[in-house]
Amino acid sequence: MSGVLNTIQSYTIDGKAPGPHILLTAGVHGDEYEPMLAAFELKEYLSDKLLMGSVTIVPVVNESAYSKGDRFGEDHLDLARICPGNQNGSSSERYAFQISSLIKQANYLIDMHTGGLAHNIFPLAGFMLHPSKEVLNKQRAMALAFNLPVIWGTDYQPNGRTLSVARDENIPAIYLEYGGGAGIREEVIKAYKEGFLNLLRSFNMLAGTVKNIPEEDRFWVEDARPNSGYFQGKMPSPSDGVFIAEVKPGECIKKGNPFGVIKDPKSGRHTAIYADIDGLILSVRVSVHVYAGDALGSILPILKPEKIIIEG
Ligand SMILES: [Zn+2]
Repeated sequence: MSGVLNTIQSYTIDGKAPGPHILLTAGVHGDEYEPMLAAFELKEYLSDKLLMGSVTIVPVVNESAYSKGDRFGEDHLDLARICPGNQNGSSSERYAFQISSLIKQANYLIDMHTGGLAHNIFPLAGFMLHPSKEVLNKQRAMALAFNLPVIWGTDYQPNGRTLSVARDENIPAIYLEYGGGAGIREEVIKAYKEGFLNLLRSFNMLAGTVKNIPEEDRFWVEDARPNSGYFQGKMPSPSDGVFIAEVKPGECIKKGNPFGVIKDPKSGRHTAIYADIDGLILSVRVSVHVYAGDALGSILPILKPEKIIIEG
């Protein structure tokens, strides 16, 4: 399969006047379907409505992963770890190269995700705590425009991401997470579409009134500690077995309270899982067969809508 250079399918919609160029991406991971559908529907909806600027939409960034129905491509690579990719590499590396080229041509990036088949995530808009105050403030405004309950700024240093390509070019960039698991959640498609249209209105690129949920109603965490945004490293499973969650994303939990249990159907052993901190449950594993080390969930250190700043 190597050697075939497939080109990423992208759609650019031009407004009636010059203005910012926004890149909207989905399908960096091949098992995250709501963002892909939202992206395509937005492309159809926006075709004749942009007042100014331009929007480039990529519904499926890693087609290799999409065709497998998996987070990773056929080369077993996570596109969100290998940007800016390699023009002559394996399929995911080539898609990473192409999306990185599109990012460098944009003025703003919005990268839509879900928890894939493995995790169910409480709705959040996230960004890197960019060292440039100007870029950071633009990212905060973009994140707010999506009207999701959680605003999450994290360590700016990880590489390999679409967001790190944008970071290195001083292009304001955010990512979105919402839902995940088997099946389709219509509310995710709706929230992403409405959020993106609201963002375009806030840029004066689309007619209509900007509607923002007040800042004081958000769970807002800016956590500069190293790897603070790394989902896959949180709450590692202590054993193999079947994970039965006892909590849901969006609930608050106290340290030491039950999070779930792992039952091993071969040995009969039960291992109780407890919350490791006080906070808001941000994600819960939904693909239930787990191995030791797999992330079972994540807890954000915040218990009510407010703004919490954690220094690195
Ligand atoms: Zn993803």
